[in-house]
Amino acid sequence: MSRLNPRQKEAVDYIGGPLLVLAGAGSGKTSVITRKIAYLINACGIAGRNIAAVTFTNKASREMKERVNALLEGNPAGKGLTVATFHNLGLTIIKREHKHLGFKPGFSIFDDQDTKALLKDLMLQNNEESDQVDVVRNQISSWKNEMLTPAQALASAQLPQDILCARAYDEYEQHLRAYNAVDFDDLILVPVRLFEEQPQVLERWQNRLRYLLVDEYQDTNLSQYRLVKLLVGHRGALTVVGDDDQSIYAWRGARPENLVQLEKDYPSLKVVKLEQNYRSTSRILKAANTLIANNPHVYEKTLWSDMGLGDPIRVIHTRNEDAECERIATETLDLHLRNNIQFKDMAVLYRGNFQARLLEMKLQHYQVPYKLNGGTSFFARAEIKDLMSYLKVLVNPDDDNAFLRIINLPRREIGPSTLQKLGQYSVERQISMFNACEELGLEQVMPANALERLRRFCSWMQHIYRQCHQGDPIDAIYEMMRDIDYEGWIAQNSSSDAMAEKRMQNVHFLMDSLKSTMERLQEDEPDAGIQEAINRLILIDMLDRQEEEDDSNRVQLMTLHASKGLEFPHVFLMGMEEELLPHRNSIETDNIEEERRLAYVGITRAKRCLTITLAKQRKQYGEVLDCLPSRFLDELPPEDLEIEGAGEKCPVQNQKRGQATLNNLKNMFD
Ligand code: ATP
Ligand code: MG
Repeated sequence: MSRLNPRQKEAVDYIGGPLLVLAGAGSGKTSVITRKIAYLINACGIAGRNIAAVTFTNKASREMKERVNALLEGNPAGKGLTVATFHNLGLTIIKREHKHLGFKPGFSIFDDQDTKALLKDLMLQNNEESDQVDVVRNQISSWKNEMLTPAQALASAQLPQDILCARAYDEYEQHLRAYNAVDFDDLILVPVRLFEEQPQVLERWQNRLRYLLVDEYQDTNLSQYRLVKLLVGHRGALTVVGDDDQSIYAWRGARPENLVQLEKDYPSLKVVKLEQNYRSTSRILKAANTLIANNPHVYEKTLWSDMGLGDPIRVIHTRNEDAECERIATETLDLHLRNNIQFKDMAVLYRGNFQARLLEMKLQHYQVPYKLNGGTSFFARAEIKDLMSYLKVLVNPDDDNAFLRIINLPRREIGPSTLQKLGQYSVERQISMFNACEELGLEQVMPANALERLRRFCSWMQHIYRQCHQGDPIDAIYEMMRDIDYEGWIAQNSSSDAMAEKRMQNVHFLMDSLKSTMERLQEDEPDAGIQEAINRLILIDMLDRQEEEDDSNRVQLMTLHASKGLEFPHVFLMGMEEELLPHRNSIETDNIEEERRLAYVGITRAKRCLTITLAKQRKQYGEVLDCLPSRFLDELPPEDLEIEGAGEKCPVQNQKRGQATLNNLKNMFD
């Protein structure tokens, strides 16, 4: 266990009031949070259940939990500690307080796809262009993050586009409520509204969470900021850590000014600055510092490292994107074979997910094991969507979206006109489709045989529901799958046996995860059931976990955004070109500073070696385009760079490392 430096120790020991740790990358901010949790429990006698630490990603919260558990060494006082993402914390609050919120117990969480599907339906009904779904969805999301209600959004909308979005927002909200569902943004918004409207509920939570810690505070948005502020109350038992130079989520409503706001909200705020970087060699750190010095600064920070000078930063420019990916693949293999570097100690970072496709092919070609972070989500797969929809209807029959997905899966001869009549009837009666099936009035609007089929489905689902509650829910769900011969359905709907098998494996993986999630939840809350487990699962990126569990010795591929907070001995930063990094949209909107921060985040992930790659030409929409080197290359210290000419075809071991200066490199592009 590393020893804390005096400033870090000061931050860990200080529990007299609100504290901000403001420091650059790799200075131990996250380490301070982990150590402080252990200190609060082991030395200050605060029970784990009275502490919550909030992070931004599942990966970060998993890592933090592991680190804290190691520090607690089995101390039973740690039981009930909350280490969660903002969304998970919000879910816990909604679940406990559903009565105060007017939700029925088994509410559903709409993921991104559900949200889009619902919006698309609504837009089609109104004869609007459904290709605008993404735009509408993003606008609604930013209104929610800014805490605007549909009425407020409509009042402020002026452009026709905004008015359309505001109307969609209103309808969307009404449907969500009717479905007894919340979306991702609601997981934070709903608790904030609850706390603002019902002080007695807030007080209960303030008494429960007596100490709050927040990592990556620069990326909180308005609703997250409010949630923190409400939970902390006047007591000010709060530690937040952050780095304004790593604020990279402005496009999702993050407000780095929340850092400055702290001093206004808490006049007694203590600020600790950390200056020693324990992650990177001096050269890497110098490159990062020189780059970020081009941005204006509210807080001045200095950062030094005694990890040695280290190797120069390599800049490899290649003929085209094919050569770029080929080169990265051979470099990783070379590092592994000749220098005995483990694959898991290497990461390739890029600006956009599309850059990973070609890279994946090259890595596969050279048989380099890799793990793609944030690719197609596990939950986006058809078989998982199917089964999840069954589970959602099981715990929340009011979820019409899920109901519609499964009603003819497998085929039950329930036609579109029957469903339309059912839909209409349920809207008039203001009840869910599932509940409408029970009503006598339905007999007036549809033929008896159609109604009979609907009712058969509903009573069968009710039977499964009872099985879930009387016996083992996992067995009951397996029985349900046997009843509908789900395996047969998958076999029929897969292009090959191998594909069908893979899809069944996914189904089993989901069931295993459900089981273990339920068991884990029951350790803290003995009466937690299948419904809590399902809601938890929706918030966990299982693909992540699945691959981490099978074997983690793989090269890590991820976007710069996803790399925040992480570190790797060897980092490849690809696509260092104008229009990619900085991204074209940001150039057009003159938002270079955020792109520079993104590059800063990328560079500071590297511990020992940093390799930057770029291509001279890139194919886009079937056209070959010339690319310019990124302006950020100009902002790196030339004396620490080792620039290599266009030798993309040479095998790595024969490659001569070019001695060209950056200017030479530029000339080659002209
Ligand atoms: P980022 O800004 O990228 O999130 P951070 O400030 O959160 O970085 P950490 O991830 O906590 O930094 O720490 C960076 C590395 O430095 C980690 O490997 C950590 O174990 C190590 N470290 C932190 N403090 C010390 C210390 N006092 N002595 C030795 N190593 C340390
Ligand atoms: Mg950190």
